Amino acid sequence: MTGITVRAPAKLNLQLAVGPPRADGYHDLVTVFHAVSLFDQVTVEAAGRDEVTVTGEGADLVPVGHDNLALRAVAALRAAVPDRGPGPGSVHVTIAKRIPVAAGLAGGSADAAAALLACNELWATGLSQQQLGAIAATVGSDVAFALLGGTAVGRGRGEQVTPALAPATQYHWVLAFADGQLSTPEVYAALDRLRAAGPAGAADPVAPAPAQPDLDAALMAALRSGNAARLGARLSNDLQTAAVSLFPALRKTLAAGLELGALGALVAGSGPTCMFLAANAERALELAVSLSGTGVCRSVARVSGPVPGAAVVSAA
Ligand code: ATP
Repeated sequence: MTGITVRAPAKLNLQLAVGPPRADGYHDLVTVFHAVSLFDQVTVEAAGRDEVTVTGEGADLVPVGHDNLALRAVAALRAAVPDRGPGPGSVHVTIAKRIPVAAGLAGGSADAAAALLACNELWATGLSQQQLGAIAATVGSDVAFALLGGTAVGRGRGEQVTPALAPATQYHWVLAFADGQLSTPEVYAALDRLRAAGPAGAADPVAPAPAQPDLDAALMAALRSGNAARLGARLSNDLQTAAVSLFPALRKTLAAGLELGALGALVAGSGPTCMFLAANAERALELAVSLSGTGVCRSVARVSGPVPGAAVVSAA
């Protein structure tokens, strides 16, 4: 076998509830992940040494050394299976990006999950899905979800994932990509500052950090009902005010989507992508066309979800 190609999806957060900073600097989260039909594709082939090539959307923003998340995943898998299968040799990883970089869509985590699954096949490690999930959780907060896909509840830093029980409803989303990036740690730091400052004088006051973030029962009920309007009304993201404070143009983007009839509008993860829920595929098309005509974003994409997690596309 010479090469394995895997695709892995971008994620949206239908709820992102953020607790206070922990001693290790991370925040405890409760989040509802939702995998959507925007995929990066990752190919691994045996090579003389570990290396990575990146092409496509935002490729120039992606590190090509050992801090590339895909190479970190390769190293984590190799360390976990030193003596199994035909042997975990060096690999060349080729990443074809369609998920914009530093856009709040966890593209780096998708690449890590894809590389993990591809090397797992290439090296015939015989690890179970559960063992692979445990390795994924050590690579990054969103990597375990990128392997799992679907709609799932994430806890801890987001790395403890449990599938959400919901009917097989497909939801139609429009993504508005921004002209720029946001750094996830900077958005969390901005949230901590806004919370510490309290409501006095703030243009957009944020509630104090909950001691323990809670899953939104009404959001989960909306998902079980399969009713897009109910879901749209319950979307929430504790990072949104912080992201808008760092990227004020997002305020206009969110307002434009709602004016154009979206059932819900939210900053995606740490932003700056904005996500809009549409009632059905036709409405999503109309919304995408109208939004791209308003000039409030760099470009738009229509996606649907939930979709499965990382999956092998071809093995040659
Ligand atoms: P996060 O997943 O941390 O919330 P995000 O979804 O906003 O972040 P990503 O596209 O995952 O953004 O990238 C975050 C950062 O990770 C990038 O700025 C980049 O420096 C680094 N990175 C490392 N490996 C990759 C990769 N394979 N693809 C994209 N970014 C990567």
